[in-house]
Amino acid sequence: MKTEISQDTYLVGIGVSPGIAIGEVYLLNKQTRALEWEIEDYEVEGELQRFSLALEQAKAQLRQVKKDVSSKPHLREHLYILDTHLLILEDEMLVQQTVAQIKKRMNAEGALKRTLTILRQMFDSIEDEYLRERRSDVDAIGDRLQRILAGEYDRTFGEIGQKSLLVAHDLSPADTMQLDKGNILGFITDCGGRTSHTAILARSLEIPAVVGLETVTTVAQNRIPAIIDGTTGVVILNPSEETFREYLKRKQAFEYQEKGLLSYRDLPAKTRDQFTVALRGNLETVSEVESALKYGAEGIGLYRTEFLYMNREQPPDEEEQIAAYREMLEAMDPHPVTIRTLDLGGDKFVTDLCLEDEDNPAMGLRAIRFSLREINLFKIQLRAILRASVAGRARIMFPMISGVGEIRACKRIFRDVQNDLRRDGIPFAESIPIGVMIETPSAVFVAPLLATEVDFFSIGTNDLIQYCLAVDRGNEHVAYLYEPMHPAILRALKATCDAARDAGIDVSICGEMAAEPQYALVLLGLGLTELSMNSSYVPRVKQVVRQLMKSDGEVLLTKLMTLSTGKEVAACIDKEMRTLLPDIFAHAPI
Ligand code: PEP
Ligand code: MG
Repeated sequence: MKTEISQDTYLVGIGVSPGIAIGEVYLLNKQTRALEWEIEDYEVEGELQRFSLALEQAKAQLRQVKKDVSSKPHLREHLYILDTHLLILEDEMLVQQTVAQIKKRMNAEGALKRTLTILRQMFDSIEDEYLRERRSDVDAIGDRLQRILAGEYDRTFGEIGQKSLLVAHDLSPADTMQLDKGNILGFITDCGGRTSHTAILARSLEIPAVVGLETVTTVAQNRIPAIIDGTTGVVILNPSEETFREYLKRKQAFEYQEKGLLSYRDLPAKTRDQFTVALRGNLETVSEVESALKYGAEGIGLYRTEFLYMNREQPPDEEEQIAAYREMLEAMDPHPVTIRTLDLGGDKFVTDLCLEDEDNPAMGLRAIRFSLREINLFKIQLRAILRASVAGRARIMFPMISGVGEIRACKRIFRDVQNDLRRDGIPFAESIPIGVMIETPSAVFVAPLLATEVDFFSIGTNDLIQYCLAVDRGNEHVAYLYEPMHPAILRALKATCDAARDAGIDVSICGEMAAEPQYALVLLGLGLTELSMNSSYVPRVKQVVRQLMKSDGEVLLTKLMTLSTGKEVAACIDKEMRTLLPDIFAHAPI
């Protein structure tokens, strides 16, 4: 039975993409847990019928989604997934096994759960990689059937109405990429952390988002009015008229302020004591180039190429990659574009690439480890980058390097690819800079050694914090431990910047920390020469940088290095920023 949600039900999660969205809830899905129990003989017939109806309902849902997707050109390439799902629903094994279990006096949910376990085991043992990867489709169908059996109507992206606030248990980065900004005003999820890739994509899409609410899908109801404040992490279900008016005012103020910040677009990010830091954009797709230009990003400090490989059947071939890289290089010229090679794994998956299920994906066959195993795929990407490099100022960056051996292996393969192109008379930029991401503790420890191998460092603080503090960046339950200003992180940043300065190479930060205006002074004090962030943050970071002195940052850093906890460091920074720039920071949420 539905209970009414009281007026002004406040929930607080992690605000990951700023701005205020006001609209109606579209409840995409909830967390479900299938329980199994023994049934009586007389209940068997009823359970068989429930299962059979669930199969029919799932088919009807999928056919409807197919119809919706067919009318949306940008989603059409996903149609094959729906066909696969429809086929699985007809699968004899799925149906017969479940029916057999029900006949042995098990409830439908339990019977289905057992069948799915057997099917998953069968898929895991298949030799053929392509077929093995179809396991994720079985999981999706299993989830859909369980939701139907649990009486939950599992909605789909295709059915989202106009101007909705999407509420979901979790959204994968691949799901988030497909969100239609025209229809979705904002989203909120039970799961997730500040630097999960889903959060990062919300910022790229420029839609307000709050994650890590833990139980919002059990509280929210479809089509009730709600407000999302992506800046503070507050979500209000069923707002009263007074609250509604208040947030409408805040929304207008936020949008007014954002527009005002655009006046910084063409000004340099130069401190009052004449230190210039390059503010570049992070992006996931070529379509974001437009907003990088709009916000005045001086080039791209991080292009996450793995998103080119998502939501599709086959990885992009060399020509398709060349076209994407070329477009970006031409658009950003004369500024540089830092193309990071494939960084799959962790929370980013591509069903059709041979990433096996791992017990601990964040520490598994991720990023450069995957590229160094799938050398052909790696070589295609390097060839594409090199061939596109004549179109502008490309830089190559390798993710998740944990030691000198790995970067040397990358360079060897890179040289092989260069030699192949030379032999075939194909032109490419000869002096393309090579860099590494510093995002593992081991890379920090050997930073002086790595610095002799490369042209630049880019610190991936999202992962560096995760690995240094042993805190999963996407896990809402440990989000409180994810402290960017933990003394261990400060020391890691300092050691990396010192190593880069001693070796005379550039050092940047391309993790989310670079986008936080309150950290700008500390980052200046560390001597970073470049900050790369979601482009929409460039104007507000620039506004702050232009009012600061690098020398103040150095003094602050010395003081911070004497403090013992992340909270002390954060409080000290907060106090300093409020004192130096009261207009900007005096009212900012801590
Ligand atoms: C990082 O880890 O900080 C980073 C920039 O890379 P990603 O978020 O893609 O892991
Ligand atoms: Mg990373």
